[in-house]
Amino acid sequence: IGKHIAIYGKGGIGKSTTTSNISAALAEAGYRVIQIGCDPKSDSTNTLRGNNYLPTVLDSLREGNKIHLDDISVKGFGGVLCIESGGPVPGVGCAGRGINAAVNLLQELNLFEEFKPDYVLYDVLGDVVCGGFAVPIRDGITDRAYVVSSSDFMALYAANNLFKAINKYAPTGGAKLGGVIANSMKPGYHREIVDDFVEKTGTSIAGYVNRSIDVQQSELYGKTVIEAKPKSAQADIYRNLAKYIAENENLVVPSPLGSAELRDWARNWGDRIYDIESGVIGTAEAI
Ligand code: ADP
Ligand code: SF4
Ligand code: MG
Repeated sequence: IGKHIAIYGKGGIGKSTTTSNISAALAEAGYRVIQIGCDPKSDSTNTLRGNNYLPTVLDSLREGNKIHLDDISVKGFGGVLCIESGGPVPGVGCAGRGINAAVNLLQELNLFEEFKPDYVLYDVLGDVVCGGFAVPIRDGITDRAYVVSSSDFMALYAANNLFKAINKYAPTGGAKLGGVIANSMKPGYHREIVDDFVEKTGTSIAGYVNRSIDVQQSELYGKTVIEAKPKSAQADIYRNLAKYIAENENLVVPSPLGSAELRDWARNWGDRIYDIESGVIGTAEAI
């Protein structure tokens, strides 16, 4: 029931911020939304619920008592139902088991039938170097994934790893890619790098999100931009992104770059001489 969407991306790249603003924008537009944090940091839904304490699913499971939905969820801005899967015990556990346990519990609690969400967003730590974090795209939990990336190499590297995972699991019923959310954008160079990356990998941009002080200031209030600064240009950027993701049915199996290919591609961009006014004006070799 509802569209289930996974949002991946390198740690610190802006997954939780972006996902929460998408949830808030969808809620504002009248949709019923659930956001499930699948990052062991358990801070995915902070700005939807004013930073208030919310026990994680894994912590509650560990206590062993019978769990009710109210114990592990809280309604945040616009009625968005906030849930944090929580993390494994450091040195012991598997994040994938955590996500799996959380989703199983939510199914046992009949959450999706009872809440009848229009959208369920999974905010997943996305380096996908391990099977654990691939669970949402691998086991039929979601049928579509997006990746948040800046123009930084390590962020694109993580995006490329997600593409590899999608490529591997899509033939056996795994999720496909809805697009790349280009975060922390400034016009010019940053945008061109990400544009080139999506072209090379057969993917597309779901939206460009500027780097903005509005994001940081709203976060200091424990709020999304949609809630704290609803009239700002940044709020409209998130609304447009949310609309795109809500409507997009153009899902693809990406063509990830091989390791050497990715390195050469990055080096090529490193070689370019760039002028803020006129864009790329040459390569290091040519000058
Ligand atoms: P992740 O969930 O990927 O680890 P977060 O969403 O927690 O990353 O973001 C990390 C930090 O970057 C946060 O402090 C957030 O406010 C900031 N941030 C993310 N996106 C933007 C943006 N577009 N403009 C300004 N700050 C941003
Ligand atoms: Fe850790 Fe990933 Fe292995 Fe799970 S699959 S134990 S999260 S490395
Ligand atoms: Mg996060």
